[in-house]
Amino acid sequence: MISRRAFVAGLGLAPFATTAWAGQQFEIELTEAEWRERLTPAQFAILRDHATERAYTNEHLGERSALLNEERAGTYTCAGCDLPIYRSETKYDSRTGWPSFWDAIEGAVGTKDDYRLLFIRRTEVHCARCGGHLGHIFEDGPAPTGLRHCINGLAMNFIPD
Ligand SMILES: [Zn+2]
Repeated sequence: MISRRAFVAGLGLAPFATTAWAGQQFEIELTEAEWRERLTPAQFAILRDHATERAYTNEHLGERSALLNEERAGTYTCAGCDLPIYRSETKYDSRTGWPSFWDAIEGAVGTKDDYRLLFIRRTEVHCARCGGHLGHIFEDGPAPTGLRHCINGLAMNFIPD
């Protein structure tokens, strides 16, 4: 079976990519068994296998995230490796049903083109440290970036200030 890494290596980078992906080694690289040990089934499905939780209920495989409605000041971290990836100051209500941010913490995420929906190019966003899939970036966000980082709540943890 062709590895996902080899597959994505041929796809090129999004124009606003912040981290190179092709051939990239991540600081944290675990085996599938080690990831399954570390993550819940839903976290594994999303972070390591590109699943997407349901909109609004933010449910997947019986697990739910409450981060869509989190309004406290604080830091959102990668559920895979605890890297701080988003701040509450950039979170906004996109009315799409997923936690949304107009920017990530500098250097914390990377992007690549995602062609899993046939003929539709989407920009996948992942953790820069462990490569975990977080969600997608769309170009319909608010100022100042005009971007919407549409993130699976189950891919993150939240640490209040
Ligand atoms: Zn991570």
